[in-house]
Amino acid sequence: MAWFSKEKKLKSKETTPEAPPAPAKKGEGIWNQCDGCGEVVAKVEWERNWNVCPKCGQHDALPVRRRLEMVLDPGSFQELDAELTPQDPLGFTDAKKYKDRLKGTYKSTGLRDAFVSGVGAVEGTQVSLGCFAFEFMGGSMGSVVGEKVARVFDRAYERRLPAIVFSSTGGARMQEGIFSLMQMAKTSAALHRFRSVRKPYISVMLHPTTGGVAASFAWLGDVVIAEPKALIGFAGPRVIEQTIREKLPPGFQRSEFLIEHGMIDAIVPRLEQRQRLAQLLTLLG
Ligand SMILES: [Zn+2]
Repeated sequence: MAWFSKEKKLKSKETTPEAPPAPAKKGEGIWNQCDGCGEVVAKVEWERNWNVCPKCGQHDALPVRRRLEMVLDPGSFQELDAELTPQDPLGFTDAKKYKDRLKGTYKSTGLRDAFVSGVGAVEGTQVSLGCFAFEFMGGSMGSVVGEKVARVFDRAYERRLPAIVFSSTGGARMQEGIFSLMQMAKTSAALHRFRSVRKPYISVMLHPTTGGVAASFAWLGDVVIAEPKALIGFAGPRVIEQTIREKLPPGFQRSEFLIEHGMIDAIVPRLEQRQRLAQLLTLLG
């Protein structure tokens, strides 16, 4: 047990001095150890730095509410469509019933589904925006997420506002089958309608952005920006390797590789995100 762990070792007599210390678990105790460089910093400091390692700049996952807090002007966010809750149209069961899985995730995250949306202001500019919650079933897109994304564009269309979507997702939600896949067409159609008001749509790809989300609205941004080292693509590297029977180049599907190949417009570190979004909104809005 590492010294910075929260759990107290009551039976100290039983521990052997040779035993190697257990690795610190993420989110446990008052310290945070970086996966990238191994640096240990106080958890409060790491959180104050928006979950970015102050030493090596590794970007750890940031919960959805913290993301909105980071990007938006204080007190400007008005959450909308929070009441939408997923149904279980297929009566799906894998290791668990889909209904039970939803209930459990709702309890542990306090979220109804994997997307939080509404309106807010970025340095004074009103925007219609939404952000995936990776902490809710891997940010998978079912019919509720699809509906909420479509409403981000619908609101932007009706109110003539710019739109921003932060994506962090494994793709479509398998438990909803075809209903999930239909969200790709639905969100893209809503985005298409929004285009007529000639306001910008900025897509921000976080780690990871894959599957049906990458294959629809996330890559359709007027400006597509990504966080450093984010995994972005449709199918995962293992699936591609098995299909084409070739070894993929190092760093394949990471932001740095994608920008070299013209697949995204910019890599924006998290700590500059708010300022860069504000700049883009001023230039394009
Ligand atoms: Zn680090």
